[in-house]
Amino acid sequence: MNVYDGLRIASMLEKHGFTQTENVGDADIILLNTCAVRAKATDKVYSAIGRIRQAKKPNAIYGIVGCVARESGTDAFRRIPDLNFVLGPQSYHKLPEILSDPDTKLFDINLGGLEKFDELPPITKSPLVAYIPVQEGCNHCCTYCIVPYTRGPEISRPFNDILAETMHAANVGAIEICFIGQNVNGYKYTDKDGKTYRLSDIIRETAKIDSVKRIRFTSSYPTEMTDDLIQLFGTESKLLPFLNMPIQSGSDNILQKMHRQYNVDEYMQIINKFKTIRPDIQISSDFIVGFPGESENDFMETCAIAKRVGYINSYSFKYSPRPHTAAAIMQQQIPENIKSERLIKLDSILNDIQREFNLSCIDKTFDCLYEGIDKTGTKHIYRTPYMQPCIVETNNATPFAHIKITSANKSCLHGKIID
Ligand code: SF4
Repeated sequence: MNVYDGLRIASMLEKHGFTQTENVGDADIILLNTCAVRAKATDKVYSAIGRIRQAKKPNAIYGIVGCVARESGTDAFRRIPDLNFVLGPQSYHKLPEILSDPDTKLFDINLGGLEKFDELPPITKSPLVAYIPVQEGCNHCCTYCIVPYTRGPEISRPFNDILAETMHAANVGAIEICFIGQNVNGYKYTDKDGKTYRLSDIIRETAKIDSVKRIRFTSSYPTEMTDDLIQLFGTESKLLPFLNMPIQSGSDNILQKMHRQYNVDEYMQIINKFKTIRPDIQISSDFIVGFPGESENDFMETCAIAKRVGYINSYSFKYSPRPHTAAAIMQQQIPENIKSERLIKLDSILNDIQREFNLSCIDKTFDCLYEGIDKTGTKHIYRTPYMQPCIVETNNATPFAHIKITSANKSCLHGKIID
């Protein structure tokens, strides 16, 4: 979501005559597009602002946009009095207001809905992967999550607006479309004639665009996986066989405390439906360890589900209390050292699974999408349909290539382009 927001902000500023610079000391306007999902992310924003204040030109205007702006509110100005603007994730289209009068303070953290999508200019050139938001906000109210506070309740964008933006992205260079939303598979839009559209309708229409070769979506809520969407994995070949479907914990006791609206059995039934429809599908998950009240036994159940599903790529975090959430004031907060020990154990299991899956790809061939040059500046990186980075030595890097995997380790694959 932040990548998308960043591109839209950049095209808005370009329209006002700005060009991008990587050097803070050259910039006339500096903004931090921020994430508040974990406490660490918020802390990083404020230390980055400290560095920017030292490096920026005296008359450069600067500020925060996104979820930390919403989380901090007016406190951001108290902490950093010379900030010029603090704009929440649904207000950044108001940024030009400050360009005409840099002496004002611009502050808007309201959750105003979909206005920003209408007011921002379209991107003029798309990366090969275009992120297209279908909805914003979330109604699920997981007890650890700040998103319902920072992004507000769920709002689905009009179906035709999404298709128009997708078509535009394809026309200006996108080959892969990734539909995004905090609860992307909860997408539901009813038009003025009473016709209701779901995510499966968006995917079906997008697959008709010839130049779009790959389609995926993130982040999904398990119980929003409706049968129409699951069935599509069996019929739509452009839909990648890779799905992020976070379970968060393998313990029914903790899932209930998290207010996740499923138990492990129900979650496994959804996984089994996918495996039946698309046997080559692979799943990734997010995990939180050390949630308040998590016993050693609860944690062992999380390790067990990780092995049972065989998640090929996951994000695991220590629980961090966030303001405005129910879990932050729960009893039985887990000490940091236990959280750290559990995270190390879980990561070790997840790493082993990932390594094993990567090794199983050797000698297979995949259609892969170009990503860029590697750190050495001599090789090219592609992404497989399972989002594994694949390093290729070639003088003829094309946007989309058929690649045979020649070797693998935990982090990446190596391969060669097959004609
Ligand atoms: S479903 Fe995801 S975004 Fe929504 S409250 Fe839960 S964790 Fe947060």
